[in-house]
Amino acid sequence: MRKKIVAGNWKMNTTYPEGETLAGAIAGKTNEVPGDVLLIAAPPFTHLCCLTGALREAGVKVAAQNCAAEAKGAYTGEVSAPMLASIGVEYCIIGHSERREYYGETGDVLRKKVRQALDAGLRPIFCIGEVLAEREAGRHFDVVRTQLEEVIIPLPTSDFEKIIIAYEPVWAIGTGKTATAGQAQEIHAFIRRVLAGKFGDSAGNTAILYGGSCKPSNAAELFAQPDVDGGLIGGASLVADDFIAIANAF
Ligand code: PEP
Repeated sequence: MRKKIVAGNWKMNTTYPEGETLAGAIAGKTNEVPGDVLLIAAPPFTHLCCLTGALREAGVKVAAQNCAAEAKGAYTGEVSAPMLASIGVEYCIIGHSERREYYGETGDVLRKKVRQALDAGLRPIFCIGEVLAEREAGRHFDVVRTQLEEVIIPLPTSDFEKIIIAYEPVWAIGTGKTATAGQAQEIHAFIRRVLAGKFGDSAGNTAILYGGSCKPSNAAELFAQPDVDGGLIGGASLVADDFIAIANAF
């Protein structure tokens, strides 16, 4: 059985006091969520050390939004995967389209980040997805295949089994435009086939999350698709009631 997962990417939102309030509100509602749904929250780096204990006590796993491509050393401003693991962080978002677009993160860098995360014992939530022009040109399948081939396909199966994939069409992130349930299912099934081509049956156990303007009103239809195992949620994860409602949409 694949895990059902709802992960909230807070991005660069909330001051520390606001984040503490949001984490408290989420923690206070986890008892409303069925036990077979794994909740993950990805607050900003500044909040992780203080919020991880309370979130974990409430059953919410904690993710970082990024990690360094190196383990330690003279990399001013970076935060390494071992540092994150040392404070109880268990997951790490890697390859978000905003990192790819604004910080120039390429397949080569992302491969190193995934390696760092795995070596530190973190589970990567690896993001893939096409931009609008690629979708309109019918190139979305090629784009996600390439993104997988650059970073995930070279992994040994034992590492692959720790990976969560998030398919996030860039044209749907923060735009209010959501992929239709049919579009999501079509490409999630394709992603699983690509993964199965290398990893065989293990691909059947991999959680593939949908991300892109997922909200309480559309989550149920998306999550009802056989290859959609949950969501990576941006904007709606900043409102505890919406995040919890999405987690209840399976
Ligand atoms: C995201 O950035 O991962 C995301 C899915 O954002 P939003 O839900 O706001 O579209």
